[in-house]
Amino acid sequence: MNVRQETLLTRQRPVIRLVRGLETSDGAGVRLTRMIGTPTLDMLDPFLMLDAFKSDDPEDYIAGFPSHPHRGFETVTYLLAGKMRHKDNAGHAGVIEAGGVQWMSAGHGIIHSEMPEQENGLLSGFQLWVNLPASHKMMKPRYQEFGPAAIPVETREGAQIRVVAGTTSEGTKGPVRELVTDVVYLDIALTGTAQFSEPLPINHNAFIHVVEGSVIVSGGGITSRINAGELAVLGEGERVELRSESDARLLLLSGQPLREPVAKGGPFVMNTQAELQQAYLDYRSGKF
Ligand code: FE
Repeated sequence: MNVRQETLLTRQRPVIRLVRGLETSDGAGVRLTRMIGTPTLDMLDPFLMLDAFKSDDPEDYIAGFPSHPHRGFETVTYLLAGKMRHKDNAGHAGVIEAGGVQWMSAGHGIIHSEMPEQENGLLSGFQLWVNLPASHKMMKPRYQEFGPAAIPVETREGAQIRVVAGTTSEGTKGPVRELVTDVVYLDIALTGTAQFSEPLPINHNAFIHVVEGSVIVSGGGITSRINAGELAVLGEGERVELRSESDARLLLLSGQPLREPVAKGGPFVMNTQAELQQAYLDYRSGKF
């Protein structure tokens, strides 16, 4: 191990960028905050998009996301409150519940709808888009779906960690398996004044999105406060060190960067413009 490697291994990941999301709407008029996939933060390889939605006003979500296609990446829907019903053109259907996740690998193509399974009350959650490598963009579509009880909760002093994907340093394994693009997805609740420290794969890109309260991240000699609604991109290092001064909730994610060219066209994410055009042609000619 050389000096640089050693320094990296013992280093805490600093906050290198702090962004607020962009208020927008998508689908048939669902109000949401786009955290990744904006002019400010175009992508964080392999993450193409992160949308946060939270409202108890049905006008903000009732129109849902009627029938639309995807090709070339994965959509990960994780709900904190409410329910969403999904249905695709291959006959796959189901309901995602609060605390549950759907990890959908669109692969060569699916056409689906995602509609709120409620007419009132709070709907809150996230949709993350994870890119697939060129070798798997045309894979057979695949679903991994887990209800709230299937997501393990690791308890530490002052912290409760729901492990959606990946394995923690204490060995808690998320239910999502055999990922093509390696991702760690943790939903962390901190109680009062708490400390949290966790190593993440050193080759991964990583971010924190604070959902409630605020957290303070220390790394690289810098201390950064991240408030609810903000997303912090983390720099290189071995571990994440953070603390809270009062109750807080955050998502901590990391993913293996693909370092491939990205051609994005609405619901299709390929490597080249030619592949994007092919996706539109295939969709229009009913090949999905
Ligand atoms: Fe979709």
